[in-house]
Amino acid sequence: MQDLVYLRNYSASLQQQVRQLLADGKLEPALQQRYPEQSHPVQTDKALYELTMALKRQWLKSSEPLSKVVFDPKIHVINNALGTHTQISRVQGGKLKSKNEIRVAALLRQLPLPLLQMVVVHELAHLREKDHNKAFYKLCLHMEPAYHQLELDLRLYLTLLEHTANKP
Ligand SMILES: [Zn+2]
Repeated sequence: MQDLVYLRNYSASLQQQVRQLLADGKLEPALQQRYPEQSHPVQTDKALYELTMALKRQWLKSSEPLSKVVFDPKIHVINNALGTHTQISRVQGGKLKSKNEIRVAALLRQLPLPLLQMVVVHELAHLREKDHNKAFYKLCLHMEPAYHQLELDLRLYLTLLEHTANKP
């Protein structure tokens, strides 16, 4: 039975449903129907930075500043890391200053915008909560009420892309 690496945390019945959709060639049309806008204008680091700052201003005004937001072609979505948030602390002028960076998998340039936004929301939430705990997901849902559905859809896209790439 095919191992669906992106869906390991979901129920066996959901995984079985996805296997059936893949076998019938129905996953792609289902996703296309859900996301009629397949492409989006957020293609550059500058556009990504602006999108991220707009979300940050809307939801996390008082959180720490961001020094950098970029697309990273080296992020391997297979390790469940769709984006990364790093905080680098250094002493500057006798004070401890921290720099926050968000990196987003470059692959998200090719997927529908709501899915990219969901990853940005995830990384922004890490400005407040370092761990994937209850408070973290509560914050994600506050910023994006469809967070869980979007995460599932993103994983379905990744499953589809892998399936298509591996087809003989
Ligand atoms: Zn995370």
